Amino acid sequence: MDVMSTANIPLDVEGAIDHLMNFLSVEGVTGEEAAIAAAVSEALKKAGVPASAIRFDDANTRIPVPTQTGNLIVDLPGTKPGPRLMFSTHLDTVPLCAGAKPKREGDRIVSDGTTALGGDARTGVALLVVLAETLIKHKLPHPPITLLFTVREESGLHGARELNPAELGGPVMCINVDGQLASELIIGAVGQENWEVEIKGKASHAGVAPDKGISATLVGALGLAEAKRTGWFGKVVKGDEFGTSNIGIFGGKNGKPAGDATNVVTDYAFLKGEARSPELSFATKIVDGYEAAFAKAKAEVTDHEGETAEVTFRRAAAYPPFKLADDAKVVKRATKALELLGIKPTYLFSNGGLDANWLDRAGIPTITIGAGQAEIHTIKEFVKLDEYEKGCRLGILMATLED
Ligand SMILES: [Zn+2]
Repeated sequence: MDVMSTANIPLDVEGAIDHLMNFLSVEGVTGEEAAIAAAVSEALKKAGVPASAIRFDDANTRIPVPTQTGNLIVDLPGTKPGPRLMFSTHLDTVPLCAGAKPKREGDRIVSDGTTALGGDARTGVALLVVLAETLIKHKLPHPPITLLFTVREESGLHGARELNPAELGGPVMCINVDGQLASELIIGAVGQENWEVEIKGKASHAGVAPDKGISATLVGALGLAEAKRTGWFGKVVKGDEFGTSNIGIFGGKNGKPAGDATNVVTDYAFLKGEARSPELSFATKIVDGYEAAFAKAKAEVTDHEGETAEVTFRRAAAYPPFKLADDAKVVKRATKALELLGIKPTYLFSNGGLDANWLDRAGIPTITIGAGQAEIHTIKEFVKLDEYEKGCRLGILMATLED
């Protein structure tokens, strides 16, 4: 790193790490963000943000699963005129982080090895607080800034999805902090469509009269085999379009197995899967492929009178894909900030959805930056402190750069 170019960023590194340790120690698994939101509000007030500038939206009233609070939205008035910027991250962690006990180990923060850590995305949470604190403490010139802390990112990007963009004050771009290395700029991500199929067959004694039954399990199995044969399973490439798909659940009612005895032709099966692609229309085509495959499988399995199973296929868009233009202002701003830090940027396209997918859909071009997450969603999760520090500097630079 070029020391000269970063010497004028007044970052209190130990103070920034203290914030991160504090936020990592507050439990807040997805849907249960009240305590971490309170800790963030407390820290912001201590940093000099007036209580009146901190509020919750009502996104949680629209999220279809129980969620303690809305998204936390903070308004930092500009100390110079200019288009409003937004910084975002998510408050929640994956359930594997419950009970995490963060400890510092050299240049890392680790868990005790029995839980994940929650650096995804508490590195972002801490970065946004450090940003506000640094801007205020050192009276750095910056345009108006919105800080957005979303809920329920890990369980389906719900907070960002249910956000009312009108509540954000009209930011022209957003810097989302939910990545690994400071050098990695995420400029796009796939979209996803989910599918499920319910198969109602007919029970019959498997030894006495198997021909009088219609096996729902067999219909499901043949459907999957057909999807594989026709090229819609796993990695999917058709011409110049590509995507992925998976079968996640193959069972019965309410999480039980499909069938519970070997001597009965199974009369019910439930399957659930997904499809992803940089083009939502292609994710839809993949799901079309599954629908056709199960229709074909249905016709192949009949009882002695030619009856077939009842097959109900349902689909639901999960999140839209996005890709920032190469000359998007937010990409240029991030690139310039990294160059000032002496870091060579790499531009990534994510195979998973981010809050950025919904923010971009809301008309706010959103780049996602990294601040030290590593081995996320596993008990080996840790935070790389040098990357966290770089991420904090990147955030401060992006907030204060001249246009
Ligand atoms: Zn995350």
